[in-house]
Amino acid sequence: MNDYVSALLVDVQGKNPAEPEFHQAVQEVAESLALVLDRHPEYRHSRVLERIIEPERVILFRVPWVDDKGEVQINRGFRIEMNSAIGPYKGGLRFHPSVNLGILKFLAFEQVFKNSLTTLPMGGGKGGSDFDPKGKSDNEVMRFCQSFMSELFRHIGPNTDVPAGDIGVGGREIGFLFGQYKRLRNEFTGVLTGKGLNWGGSLIRPEATGYGCVYFAQEMLGTRKETLEGKVCLVSGSGNVAQYTVEKLLDLGGKPVTLSDSSGSIFDEAGIDREKLSFVMDLKNVRRGRIKEYAEKYQSAVYTETDPRLDHNPLWDHKAQCAFPSATQNEINGKDAANLLRQGVYVIGEGANMPATVEAVNQFVDAGILYGPGKAANAGGVAVSGLEMAQNSMRYGWTRKEVDNRLQLIMSSIHEACVGTADRFGVPGNYVDGANIAGFLKVADAMMDQGVV
Ligand code: NDP
Repeated sequence: MNDYVSALLVDVQGKNPAEPEFHQAVQEVAESLALVLDRHPEYRHSRVLERIIEPERVILFRVPWVDDKGEVQINRGFRIEMNSAIGPYKGGLRFHPSVNLGILKFLAFEQVFKNSLTTLPMGGGKGGSDFDPKGKSDNEVMRFCQSFMSELFRHIGPNTDVPAGDIGVGGREIGFLFGQYKRLRNEFTGVLTGKGLNWGGSLIRPEATGYGCVYFAQEMLGTRKETLEGKVCLVSGSGNVAQYTVEKLLDLGGKPVTLSDSSGSIFDEAGIDREKLSFVMDLKNVRRGRIKEYAEKYQSAVYTETDPRLDHNPLWDHKAQCAFPSATQNEINGKDAANLLRQGVYVIGEGANMPATVEAVNQFVDAGILYGPGKAANAGGVAVSGLEMAQNSMRYGWTRKEVDNRLQLIMSSIHEACVGTADRFGVPGNYVDGANIAGFLKVADAMMDQGVV
């Protein structure tokens, strides 16, 4: 790492205390960019990276609501408008008790580079709340969403900032949020993506992150003239991304064998087939139950409860060739990475954002495996959100096949950008550097063109 980048990281830590995830995300990108900043002093001179690290705007607000017992609850709402150099702010909303400023800043920062990679004109943002939808009634979720939007509506708009879903925010929540926005603004616009199909949503949006991640893995395997056919795959999470990752793996002949939620994980050596997947979709999206029930229904599966005392996650310790972490940040630590490599995993597609710690990432890169970082591998979700915005602007909808074809093309061009950029900067096969540098260059050049703003 050069002195410029080291000094920058010290500054980021000093200025943003108690935000370890944000420091981690900046460190990973800054280390890749050392190569670029050496070759292009003009970026240093214009302090482009320093500007990218500082959000354009941070909105923090109170979200009061009344629960079913008539008691007043208070949550905290956030929107980080990180960078609008190449388009309106764009990024999901996360509702999870762990949400805080540092986590959303890391996600917004990552989003800037990811959106740049998609080839579509979208800036980066992220938002959410420490509200926990788990165990809440539909009415409670609705009242919360309405209160959240009663403040957020004044900061967003189809040409300003277009939020979407993330952890804890799916079709139900987007519906309640959109309804309240429309009521307050008296406007029917594409202000959110992930909308229902009958009211402006795009086909393939729910599937896009998982499908895109598998397409990206397929592209990486293609560089070695291999396919997913017959490959055993470890998948974590059991929400939106995990479900459609499993579906696309089945389409392409892979054999998914694990899923999880925050309470525990299942290992099904016989494979998760389509019937078992539809059970999971009903369990998680309709009945909102726990993954443990999978092992109660299918004898071939073993359930392991989450043990916070363990220094590793048993889900990553099974014989396999591919892994698709699709739950949350830092779910793979150094020990998990060592277990994955020992068990034969050589393809990793990150459905989740920053699921691997710095120590784990270094092990994957050093081992020379096909490691697709989240910014690139999970960009399919926001890419189809961009396509939803395009369809809304045209007041027109593409067919499932048209959207899926565009998604495949986008994932292929992201892959090409990563590989080509890594080659150009003398780090062939390094998808981390390739994604960070390619994502940065487009945003940095736009910022240079637009002056110091
Ligand atoms: P969902 O809420 O649909 O599912 C999240 C899954 O991960 C659930 O199974 C959840 O279990 C589990 N999980 C969440 N937090 C934790 C935790 N702290 N520890 C263990 N398990 C946890 O979210 P998504 O599938 O949409 O998102 C998953 C990941 O993918 C996130 O990192 C998100 O940022 C990323 N992503 C999502 C995109 C999208 O389009 N939705 C786009 C790009 C990235 P439980 O139910 O028990 O909480």
